[in-house]
Amino acid sequence: MSDPLDIVILGGGTAGWMAATALVTFMPSSRCRVRLVESDEIGIVGVGEATLPQMKNFNDALGIDEAEMMRATKGAFKLGIEFVDWGKKGARYIHPFGVHGPADMAHIFHHRWVKALRAGWESDIQDYSFAVQAARMRRFDFPSKDQAAIESTFSYAYHFDASLYSVFLRGIAEERGAIRTEGKVRDVVRDPQSGDVRSLTLESGQSITGDLFIDCSGFRSILLDKTLGVGWEDWSKWLPCDRAFAVPSERGEFTPFTRSTAMEAGWRWRIPLQHRTGNGYVCSSSFIKDDDAAASLLRSVDAKPLAEPRMLKFQAGRRVVSWDKNCVAVGLASGFLEPLESTSIYLIQVAILQLLPLLPAKRIDPRLRDEFNRLIDMEYERIRDFLILHYKLNTRDDAEIWRYCAAMEVPDSLRHKIELFLSTAEQKSAIGRRKTRPSCYMPGGVA
Ligand code: FAD
Repeated sequence: MSDPLDIVILGGGTAGWMAATALVTFMPSSRCRVRLVESDEIGIVGVGEATLPQMKNFNDALGIDEAEMMRATKGAFKLGIEFVDWGKKGARYIHPFGVHGPADMAHIFHHRWVKALRAGWESDIQDYSFAVQAARMRRFDFPSKDQAAIESTFSYAYHFDASLYSVFLRGIAEERGAIRTEGKVRDVVRDPQSGDVRSLTLESGQSITGDLFIDCSGFRSILLDKTLGVGWEDWSKWLPCDRAFAVPSERGEFTPFTRSTAMEAGWRWRIPLQHRTGNGYVCSSSFIKDDDAAASLLRSVDAKPLAEPRMLKFQAGRRVVSWDKNCVAVGLASGFLEPLESTSIYLIQVAILQLLPLLPAKRIDPRLRDEFNRLIDMEYERIRDFLILHYKLNTRDDAEIWRYCAAMEVPDSLRHKIELFLSTAEQKSAIGRRKTRPSCYMPGGVA
Protein backbone atom coordinates (compact mmCIF):
# COMPACT_ATOMS: atom_id res chain seq x y z
CA MET A 1 0.00 0.00 0.00
CA SER A 2 1.38 3.45 -0.91
CA ASP A 3 2.09 6.20 1.62
CA PRO A 4 -0.80 8.49 2.47
CA LEU A 5 -1.13 11.77 0.59
CA ASP A 6 0.18 14.67 2.68
CA ILE A 7 -2.33 17.49 2.36
CA VAL A 8 -1.44 20.95 3.61
CA ILE A 9 -4.25 23.49 3.95
CA LEU A 10 -3.10 27.11 4.04
CA GLY A 11 -5.68 29.14 5.96
CA GLY A 12 -8.07 28.56 8.83
CA GLY A 13 -11.16 30.56 7.89
CA THR A 14 -14.46 28.96 6.95
CA ALA A 15 -12.89 27.44 3.82
CA GLY A 16 -9.85 25.99 5.59
CA TRP A 17 -11.69 24.37 8.45
CA MET A 18 -14.54 23.10 6.27
CA ALA A 19 -11.93 21.43 4.04
CA ALA A 20 -9.99 20.01 6.97
CA THR A 21 -13.09 18.64 8.70
CA ALA A 22 -14.38 17.02 5.51
CA LEU A 23 -11.02 15.45 4.68
CA VAL A 24 -10.43 13.91 8.10
CA THR A 25 -14.04 12.73 8.27
CA PHE A 26 -14.45 11.23 4.82
CA MET A 27 -10.95 9.99 4.01
CA PRO A 28 -9.23 7.25 6.03
CA SER A 29 -5.91 8.26 7.63
CA SER A 30 -4.24 5.58 5.52
CA ARG A 31 -5.28 7.62 2.42
CA CYS A 32 -4.34 11.13 3.55
CA ARG A 33 -2.84 13.13 6.39
CA VAL A 34 -4.20 16.64 6.93
CA ARG A 35 -2.27 19.60 8.24
CA LEU A 36 -3.58 23.18 8.46
CA VAL A 37 -1.51 26.35 8.80
CA GLU A 38 -3.14 29.57 9.91
CA SER A 39 -1.97 32.89 11.20
CA ASP A 40 -3.64 34.35 14.29
CA GLU A 41 -2.02 37.68 13.47
CA ILE A 42 -3.70 37.86 10.04
CA GLY A 43 -7.01 36.42 11.24
CA ILE A 44 -9.98 35.62 9.02
CA VAL A 45 -12.32 37.77 6.93
CA GLY A 46 -15.01 37.20 9.57
CA VAL A 47 -18.10 37.97 7.46
CA GLY A 48 -20.38 35.41 5.88
CA GLU A 49 -23.38 35.05 8.10
CA ALA A 50 -25.98 33.65 5.72
CA THR A 51 -26.00 30.19 4.15
CA LEU A 52 -28.04 27.95 1.85
CA PRO A 53 -29.90 24.74 2.74
CA GLN A 54 -27.03 22.64 1.37
CA MET A 55 -25.09 23.65 4.48
CA LYS A 56 -27.34 21.39 6.54
CA ASN A 57 -26.52 18.42 4.29
CA PHE A 58 -22.82 19.17 4.70
CA ASN A 59 -23.07 19.37 8.48
CA ASP A 60 -25.24 16.25 8.64
CA ALA A 61 -22.73 14.30 6.54
CA LEU A 62 -19.99 15.38 8.95
CA GLY A 63 -22.09 14.03 11.83
CA ILE A 64 -22.51 17.47 13.38
CA ASP A 65 -25.22 17.86 15.98
CA GLU A 66 -27.40 20.73 14.70
CA ALA A 67 -28.44 22.05 18.11
CA GLU A 68 -24.83 22.05 19.30
CA MET A 69 -23.72 23.91 16.17
CA MET A 70 -26.49 26.49 16.56
CA ARG A 71 -25.52 27.11 20.18
CA ALA A 72 -21.82 27.38 19.35
CA THR A 73 -22.30 29.79 16.43
CA LYS A 74 -25.18 31.86 17.90
CA GLY A 75 -27.13 30.66 14.89
CA ALA A 76 -30.69 31.22 13.72
CA PHE A 77 -32.86 29.53 11.11
CA LYS A 78 -33.36 30.95 7.63
CA LEU A 79 -36.32 30.17 5.35
CA GLY A 80 -35.22 32.33 2.42
CA ILE A 81 -34.33 35.87 1.41
CA GLU A 82 -36.71 38.80 1.30
CA PHE A 83 -35.91 41.18 -1.55
CA VAL A 84 -37.14 44.72 -0.93
CA ASP A 85 -37.16 47.47 -3.58
CA TRP A 86 -35.57 45.15 -6.13
CA GLY A 87 -37.17 45.21 -9.56
CA LYS A 88 -38.86 48.48 -8.69
CA LYS A 89 -39.24 50.66 -5.62
CA GLY A 90 -41.85 49.31 -3.23
CA ALA A 91 -41.54 45.72 -4.51
CA ARG A 92 -41.27 43.00 -1.89
CA TYR A 93 -40.59 39.39 -2.72
CA ILE A 94 -39.42 36.39 -0.69
CA HIS A 95 -37.17 33.90 -2.41
CA PRO A 96 -38.13 30.85 -0.34
CA PHE A 97 -36.16 27.66 0.18
CA GLY A 98 -38.43 24.98 -1.17
CA VAL A 99 -41.08 24.55 -3.80
CA HIS A 100 -44.37 26.26 -4.59
CA GLY A 101 -47.59 24.33 -4.37
CA PRO A 102 -48.20 20.81 -3.10
CA ALA A 103 -45.26 18.39 -3.10
CA ASP A 104 -46.61 16.24 -5.93
CA MET A 105 -47.12 19.28 -8.20
CA ALA A 106 -43.77 20.96 -7.62
CA HIS A 107 -42.47 20.31 -11.15
CA ILE A 108 -45.51 21.77 -12.93
CA PHE A 109 -46.78 24.28 -10.44
CA HIS A 110 -45.37 27.42 -12.09
CA HIS A 111 -46.92 26.43 -15.40
CA ARG A 112 -50.32 25.79 -13.85
CA TRP A 113 -50.17 29.06 -11.99
CA VAL A 114 -49.28 31.04 -15.12
CA LYS A 115 -52.08 29.32 -17.00
CA ALA A 116 -54.51 30.32 -14.25
CA LEU A 117 -53.27 33.93 -14.43
CA ARG A 118 -53.94 33.98 -18.16
CA ALA A 119 -57.43 32.73 -17.52
CA GLY A 120 -58.04 35.72 -15.26
CA TRP A 121 -57.08 34.31 -11.85
CA GLU A 122 -55.65 37.07 -9.67
CA SER A 123 -53.06 35.71 -7.27
CA ASP A 124 -49.52 35.99 -6.07
CA ILE A 125 -47.31 32.92 -6.38
CA GLN A 126 -45.93 33.69 -2.93
CA ASP A 127 -49.26 32.60 -1.49
CA TYR A 128 -48.43 29.04 -2.56
CA SER A 129 -45.13 28.69 -0.73
CA PHE A 130 -45.16 27.21 2.76
CA ALA A 131 -41.80 28.82 3.55
CA VAL A 132 -43.12 32.26 2.55
CA GLN A 133 -46.17 31.87 4.76
CA ALA A 134 -44.03 30.86 7.74
CA ALA A 135 -41.59 33.71 7.03
CA ARG A 136 -44.43 36.22 6.89
CA MET A 137 -45.68 35.00 10.27
CA ARG A 138 -42.09 35.13 11.63
CA ARG A 139 -42.38 31.46 12.52
CA PHE A 140 -40.04 28.57 12.11
CA ASP A 141 -40.57 24.83 12.45
CA PHE A 142 -38.74 21.86 10.99
CA PRO A 143 -40.10 20.41 7.72
CA SER A 144 -42.38 17.41 8.07
CA LYS A 145 -40.82 14.06 7.23
CA ASP A 146 -44.10 13.00 5.58
CA GLN A 147 -43.35 13.73 1.91
CA ALA A 148 -47.05 14.04 1.08
CA ALA A 149 -47.63 16.77 3.67
CA ILE A 150 -47.56 20.44 2.63
CA GLU A 151 -45.28 21.01 5.66
CA SER A 152 -42.59 19.01 3.85
CA THR A 153 -42.35 21.41 0.89
CA PHE A 154 -39.67 23.70 2.27
CA SER A 155 -36.11 23.48 3.48
CA TYR A 156 -34.02 25.79 5.60
CA ALA A 157 -30.54 27.18 6.10
CA TYR A 158 -28.71 29.02 8.85
CA HIS A 159 -27.66 32.49 9.85
CA PHE A 160 -24.56 32.19 11.99
CA ASP A 161 -21.42 33.91 13.13
CA ALA A 162 -18.89 32.65 10.56
CA SER A 163 -15.93 33.23 12.91
CA LEU A 164 -17.56 31.00 15.50
CA TYR A 165 -18.33 28.35 12.87
CA SER A 166 -14.61 28.09 12.01
CA VAL A 167 -13.75 27.70 15.69
CA PHE A 168 -16.46 25.06 16.07
CA LEU A 169 -15.19 23.07 13.07
CA ARG A 170 -11.61 23.37 14.25
CA GLY A 171 -12.53 21.51 17.45
CA ILE A 172 -14.06 18.67 15.41
CA ALA A 173 -11.27 18.50 12.82
CA GLU A 174 -8.51 18.42 15.44
CA GLU A 175 -10.30 15.75 17.41
CA ARG A 176 -10.53 13.63 14.23
CA GLY A 177 -6.86 13.94 13.37
CA ALA A 178 -6.14 17.27 11.62
CA ILE A 179 -2.89 18.87 12.80
CA ARG A 180 -2.93 22.65 13.19
CA THR A 181 0.17 24.82 13.01
CA GLU A 182 -0.05 28.47 13.96
CA GLY A 183 2.25 30.74 12.00
CA LYS A 184 2.58 33.16 9.14
CA VAL A 185 3.82 31.83 5.81
CA ARG A 186 6.88 33.81 4.76
CA ASP A 187 8.01 31.81 1.73
CA VAL A 188 6.77 29.16 -0.63
CA VAL A 189 9.36 26.66 -1.92
CA ARG A 190 8.78 25.17 -5.39
CA ASP A 191 10.24 22.26 -7.28
CA PRO A 192 12.55 23.79 -9.91
CA GLN A 193 11.56 21.19 -12.53
CA SER A 194 7.81 20.75 -12.17
CA GLY A 195 6.98 24.08 -10.55
CA ASP A 196 4.93 22.22 -7.94
CA VAL A 197 4.86 23.61 -4.43
CA ARG A 198 7.06 21.54 -2.13
CA SER A 199 6.81 23.36 1.19
CA LEU A 200 5.71 26.44 3.10
CA THR A 201 8.25 28.28 5.21
CA LEU A 202 6.85 30.03 8.26
CA GLU A 203 8.27 33.17 9.85
CA SER A 204 9.53 30.96 12.69
CA GLY A 205 11.70 29.15 10.11
CA GLN A 206 9.61 25.97 10.31
CA SER A 207 9.08 24.22 7.01
CA ILE A 208 5.86 22.36 6.19
CA THR A 209 6.07 19.93 3.29
CA GLY A 210 3.20 18.34 1.40
CA ASP A 211 2.07 16.53 -1.74
CA LEU A 212 -1.11 18.54 -2.29
CA PHE A 213 -1.72 22.10 -1.06
CA ILE A 214 -5.16 23.58 -0.55
CA ASP A 215 -5.07 27.36 -0.76
CA CYS A 216 -7.62 28.72 1.70
CA SER A 217 -5.70 31.94 2.33
CA GLY A 218 -8.66 34.16 1.50
CA PHE A 219 -8.39 37.28 -0.66
CA ARG A 220 -4.56 37.03 -0.34
CA SER A 221 -4.59 33.87 -2.50
CA ILE A 222 -1.01 33.12 -1.47
CA LEU A 223 -0.54 29.98 -3.57
CA LEU A 224 -2.74 30.35 -6.67
CA ASP A 225 -2.15 34.06 -7.20
CA LYS A 226 1.05 35.12 -5.42
CA THR A 227 3.03 31.93 -6.02
CA LEU A 228 1.71 30.37 -9.24
CA GLY A 229 0.48 33.58 -10.83
CA VAL A 230 -2.84 32.09 -11.95
CA GLY A 231 -4.78 34.80 -13.77
CA TRP A 232 -7.95 36.51 -12.58
CA GLU A 233 -11.17 36.75 -14.56
CA ASP A 234 -12.80 40.08 -13.74
CA TRP A 235 -16.60 40.05 -13.78
CA SER A 236 -17.13 43.55 -12.38
CA LYS A 237 -18.69 44.89 -15.58
CA TRP A 238 -21.68 42.63 -14.79
CA LEU A 239 -21.46 42.71 -11.00
CA PRO A 240 -20.30 46.28 -10.33
CA CYS A 241 -20.35 46.23 -6.51
CA ASP A 242 -16.79 46.36 -5.17
CA ARG A 243 -17.21 47.30 -1.51
CA ALA A 244 -19.11 46.26 1.54
CA PHE A 245 -19.60 48.20 4.76
CA ALA A 246 -20.52 45.87 7.60
CA VAL A 247 -21.88 46.85 11.01
CA PRO A 248 -23.40 44.75 13.78
CA SER A 249 -26.36 46.17 15.67
CA GLU A 250 -28.40 45.22 18.71
CA ARG A 251 -31.09 42.66 18.01
CA GLY A 252 -34.08 44.28 16.35
CA GLU A 253 -36.96 42.45 14.77
CA PHE A 254 -36.16 38.73 14.64
CA THR A 255 -36.97 37.42 11.17
CA PRO A 256 -36.40 33.81 10.00
CA PHE A 257 -35.03 35.15 6.71
CA THR A 258 -32.29 37.38 5.35
CA ARG A 259 -33.48 40.75 4.09
CA SER A 260 -31.85 42.29 1.04
CA THR A 261 -32.91 45.86 0.33
CA ALA A 262 -31.90 47.59 -2.89
CA MET A 263 -30.25 50.95 -2.21
CA GLU A 264 -29.04 54.00 -4.13
CA ALA A 265 -25.78 52.29 -5.19
CA GLY A 266 -26.18 48.60 -4.39
CA TRP A 267 -28.06 46.72 -1.71
CA ARG A 268 -28.12 46.19 2.04
CA TRP A 269 -28.27 42.96 4.01
CA ARG A 270 -29.95 42.34 7.35
CA ILE A 271 -29.21 39.04 9.10
CA PRO A 272 -30.56 38.32 12.58
CA LEU A 273 -28.47 36.13 14.89
CA GLN A 274 -29.19 35.13 18.48
CA HIS A 275 -27.15 37.92 20.05
CA ARG A 276 -27.10 40.66 17.40
CA THR A 277 -28.14 41.59 13.88
CA GLY A 278 -25.60 41.68 11.07
CA ASN A 279 -26.01 44.59 8.64
CA GLY A 280 -24.05 45.49 5.57
CA TYR A 281 -24.18 47.69 2.50
CA VAL A 282 -22.75 46.13 -0.66
CA CYS A 283 -22.14 48.95 -3.13
CA SER A 284 -20.17 50.14 -6.09
CA SER A 285 -17.54 52.86 -5.67
CA SER A 286 -18.38 54.00 -9.21
CA PHE A 287 -21.79 55.13 -7.96
CA ILE A 288 -21.28 56.27 -4.34
CA LYS A 289 -18.51 57.72 -2.16
CA ASP A 290 -17.31 55.58 0.77
CA ASP A 291 -18.38 58.09 3.44
CA ASP A 292 -21.82 58.43 1.91
CA ALA A 293 -22.26 54.65 1.79
CA ALA A 294 -21.24 54.23 5.44
CA ALA A 295 -23.59 57.05 6.49
CA SER A 296 -26.43 55.60 4.43
CA LEU A 297 -25.95 52.21 6.10
CA LEU A 298 -26.00 53.71 9.60
CA ARG A 299 -29.18 55.66 8.79
CA SER A 300 -30.96 52.52 7.68
CA VAL A 301 -29.98 50.17 10.53
CA ASP A 302 -33.10 49.58 12.62
CA ALA A 303 -31.41 49.06 16.02
CA LYS A 304 -28.46 50.57 17.91
CA PRO A 305 -25.16 49.97 16.01
CA LEU A 306 -22.55 48.16 18.09
CA ALA A 307 -19.48 49.39 16.17
CA GLU A 308 -18.33 51.68 13.42
CA PRO A 309 -18.89 50.34 9.86
CA ARG A 310 -15.99 48.23 8.63
CA MET A 311 -15.11 48.45 4.94
CA LEU A 312 -14.16 45.40 2.85
CA LYS A 313 -13.00 45.83 -0.74
CA PHE A 314 -13.41 43.15 -3.38
CA GLN A 315 -13.82 42.56 -7.07
CA ALA A 316 -16.34 40.09 -8.49
CA GLY A 317 -14.56 37.36 -10.40
CA ARG A 318 -12.58 34.19 -10.03
CA ARG A 319 -9.20 32.62 -10.70
CA VAL A 320 -9.00 31.35 -14.28
CA VAL A 321 -8.45 27.87 -12.82
CA SER A 322 -8.95 26.77 -9.23
CA TRP A 323 -6.46 23.89 -9.42
CA ASP A 324 -2.99 24.53 -10.87
CA LYS A 325 0.10 22.30 -10.40
CA ASN A 326 -0.41 20.66 -7.00
CA CYS A 327 -2.43 23.54 -5.50
CA VAL A 328 -6.21 23.75 -5.23
CA ALA A 329 -7.86 27.03 -4.22
CA VAL A 330 -11.00 26.88 -2.12
CA GLY A 331 -13.00 29.84 -0.78
CA LEU A 332 -12.02 33.45 -1.38
CA ALA A 333 -8.61 32.35 -2.68
CA SER A 334 -10.43 30.95 -5.73
CA GLY A 335 -12.87 33.80 -6.33
CA PHE A 336 -15.67 35.91 -4.98
CA LEU A 337 -19.15 36.66 -6.22
CA GLU A 338 -20.89 39.16 -4.07
CA PRO A 339 -23.03 37.83 -1.20
CA LEU A 340 -26.46 38.63 -2.70
CA GLU A 341 -27.70 35.02 -2.61
CA SER A 342 -25.36 33.73 0.14
CA THR A 343 -23.48 31.53 -2.30
CA SER A 344 -19.85 31.79 -1.10
CA ILE A 345 -19.91 29.20 1.65
CA TYR A 346 -21.97 27.05 -0.70
CA LEU A 347 -19.15 27.33 -3.29
CA ILE A 348 -16.67 26.20 -0.64
CA GLN A 349 -18.83 23.18 0.04
CA VAL A 350 -19.09 22.39 -3.68
CA ALA A 351 -15.31 22.63 -4.15
CA ILE A 352 -14.65 20.29 -1.24
CA LEU A 353 -17.22 17.74 -2.35
CA GLN A 354 -15.90 17.79 -5.93
CA LEU A 355 -12.33 17.44 -4.71
CA LEU A 356 -12.86 14.41 -2.48
CA PRO A 357 -13.50 11.86 -5.26
CA LEU A 358 -10.80 13.47 -7.43
CA LEU A 359 -8.06 13.38 -4.80
CA PRO A 360 -4.89 12.20 -6.50
CA ALA A 361 -2.38 9.63 -5.34
CA LYS A 362 1.14 10.91 -4.58
CA ARG A 363 1.56 12.05 -8.22
CA ILE A 364 -1.01 14.46 -9.62
CA ASP A 365 -2.92 13.08 -12.59
CA PRO A 366 -3.69 16.11 -14.82
CA ARG A 367 -7.03 14.57 -15.82
CA LEU A 368 -8.25 14.87 -12.22
CA ARG A 369 -7.17 18.49 -12.14
CA ASP A 370 -8.90 19.29 -15.44
CA GLU A 371 -12.10 17.64 -14.34
CA PHE A 372 -12.12 19.59 -11.07
CA ASN A 373 -11.59 22.85 -12.94
CA ARG A 374 -14.38 22.01 -15.38
CA LEU A 375 -16.84 21.34 -12.56
CA ILE A 376 -15.88 24.46 -10.62
CA ASP A 377 -16.11 26.63 -13.76
CA MET A 378 -19.67 25.46 -14.34
CA GLU A 379 -20.65 26.23 -10.78
CA TYR A 380 -19.10 29.70 -10.76
CA GLU A 381 -20.68 30.65 -14.10
CA ARG A 382 -24.06 29.31 -13.08
CA ILE A 383 -24.06 31.42 -9.92
CA ARG A 384 -22.59 34.44 -11.72
CA ASP A 385 -25.49 34.42 -14.20
CA PHE A 386 -28.00 33.97 -11.42
CA LEU A 387 -26.63 37.04 -9.59
CA ILE A 388 -26.41 39.19 -12.73
CA LEU A 389 -30.06 38.46 -13.44
CA HIS A 390 -31.06 40.26 -10.22
CA TYR A 391 -29.43 43.44 -11.49
CA LYS A 392 -30.36 43.11 -15.14
CA LEU A 393 -34.09 42.63 -14.57
CA ASN A 394 -34.55 45.76 -12.48
CA THR A 395 -36.85 48.48 -13.79
CA ARG A 396 -35.73 51.22 -11.41
CA ASP A 397 -34.74 54.52 -12.96
CA ASP A 398 -34.15 56.48 -9.76
CA ALA A 399 -30.40 55.81 -9.52
CA GLU A 400 -27.47 55.53 -11.90
CA ILE A 401 -26.47 52.00 -10.89
CA TRP A 402 -29.90 50.60 -11.73
CA ARG A 403 -30.02 52.33 -15.11
CA TYR A 404 -26.53 51.00 -15.86
CA CYS A 405 -27.47 47.44 -14.91
CA ALA A 406 -30.75 47.42 -16.83
CA ALA A 407 -28.89 48.54 -19.97
CA MET A 408 -25.74 46.39 -19.64
CA GLU A 409 -24.89 43.50 -21.93
CA VAL A 410 -25.01 40.16 -20.12
CA PRO A 411 -22.85 37.05 -20.70
CA ASP A 412 -23.91 34.87 -23.64
CA SER A 413 -24.78 32.03 -21.28
CA LEU A 414 -27.26 34.24 -19.43
CA ARG A 415 -28.68 35.75 -22.61
CA HIS A 416 -29.33 32.22 -23.82
CA LYS A 417 -31.18 31.34 -20.60
CA ILE A 418 -33.31 34.49 -20.78
CA GLU A 419 -34.16 33.76 -24.42
CA LEU A 420 -35.15 30.21 -23.54
CA PHE A 421 -37.36 31.54 -20.79
CA LEU A 422 -39.01 34.10 -23.04
CA SER A 423 -39.61 31.56 -25.79
CA THR A 424 -42.08 29.71 -23.59
CA ALA A 425 -45.35 31.53 -24.07
CA GLU A 426 -46.79 30.86 -20.65
CA GLN A 427 -43.68 31.96 -18.85
CA LYS A 428 -43.54 35.03 -21.09
CA SER A 429 -46.86 36.15 -19.73
CA ALA A 430 -45.51 35.78 -16.19
CA ILE A 431 -42.59 38.12 -16.91
CA GLY A 432 -44.94 40.56 -18.63
CA ARG A 433 -47.12 40.79 -15.56
CA ARG A 434 -44.11 41.12 -13.25
CA LYS A 435 -45.93 39.10 -10.62
CA THR A 436 -42.75 37.21 -9.91
CA ARG A 437 -39.18 36.86 -11.01
CA PRO A 438 -38.55 33.78 -13.13
CA SER A 439 -37.33 31.65 -10.26
CA CYS A 440 -38.35 28.40 -11.95
CA TYR A 441 -35.61 29.07 -14.48
CA MET A 442 -32.94 30.21 -12.09
CA PRO A 443 -29.84 28.42 -13.32
CA GLY A 444 -29.90 25.08 -11.62
CA GLY A 445 -32.06 26.36 -8.79
CA VAL A 446 -29.14 27.25 -6.53
CA ALA A 447 -31.32 28.22 -3.67
P1 FAD B 1 -10.58 33.94 5.25
O1 FAD B 1 -11.67 33.88 6.22
O2 FAD B 1 -10.03 35.28 4.93
O3 FAD B 1 -9.39 33.02 5.80
C1 FAD B 1 -8.09 33.13 5.30
C2 FAD B 1 -7.14 32.35 6.19
O4 FAD B 1 -5.85 32.35 5.61
C3 FAD B 1 -7.00 32.91 7.60
O5 FAD B 1 -6.95 31.86 8.53
C4 FAD B 1 -5.63 33.59 7.54
O6 FAD B 1 -5.00 33.64 8.79
C5 FAD B 1 -4.90 32.65 6.59
N1 FAD B 1 -3.73 33.28 5.97
C6 FAD B 1 -3.72 34.23 5.00
N2 FAD B 1 -2.45 34.56 4.71
C7 FAD B 1 -1.66 33.78 5.48
C8 FAD B 1 -0.24 33.64 5.64
N3 FAD B 1 0.64 34.39 4.96
N4 FAD B 1 0.21 32.75 6.54
C9 FAD B 1 -0.64 31.98 7.26
N5 FAD B 1 -1.98 32.07 7.15
C10 FAD B 1 -2.47 32.96 6.28
N6 FAD B 1 -20.47 34.01 2.28
C11 FAD B 1 -21.65 33.40 2.48
O7 FAD B 1 -21.78 32.20 2.20
N7 FAD B 1 -22.69 34.08 3.02
C12 FAD B 1 -22.64 35.40 3.29
O8 FAD B 1 -23.59 35.97 3.79
C13 FAD B 1 -21.42 36.08 3.00
N8 FAD B 1 -21.30 37.41 3.20
C14 FAD B 1 -20.14 38.04 2.85
C15 FAD B 1 -20.05 39.42 2.94
C16 FAD B 1 -18.88 40.07 2.54
C17 FAD B 1 -18.81 41.55 2.60
C18 FAD B 1 -17.76 39.32 2.10
C19 FAD B 1 -16.48 40.01 1.71
C20 FAD B 1 -17.84 37.95 2.03
C21 FAD B 1 -19.03 37.30 2.38
N9 FAD B 1 -19.14 35.92 2.26
C22 FAD B 1 -20.34 35.31 2.50
C23 FAD B 1 -17.99 35.12 1.87
C24 FAD B 1 -17.39 34.47 3.10
O9 FAD B 1 -16.99 35.44 4.03
C25 FAD B 1 -16.19 33.62 2.71
O10 FAD B 1 -16.51 32.82 1.62
C26 FAD B 1 -15.78 32.72 3.84
O11 FAD B 1 -15.63 33.42 5.02
C27 FAD B 1 -14.51 31.99 3.52
O12 FAD B 1 -13.40 32.78 3.67
P2 FAD B 1 -12.00 32.09 3.50
O13 FAD B 1 -11.88 30.99 4.49
O14 FAD B 1 -11.80 31.77 2.07
O15 FAD B 1 -10.96 33.27 3.84
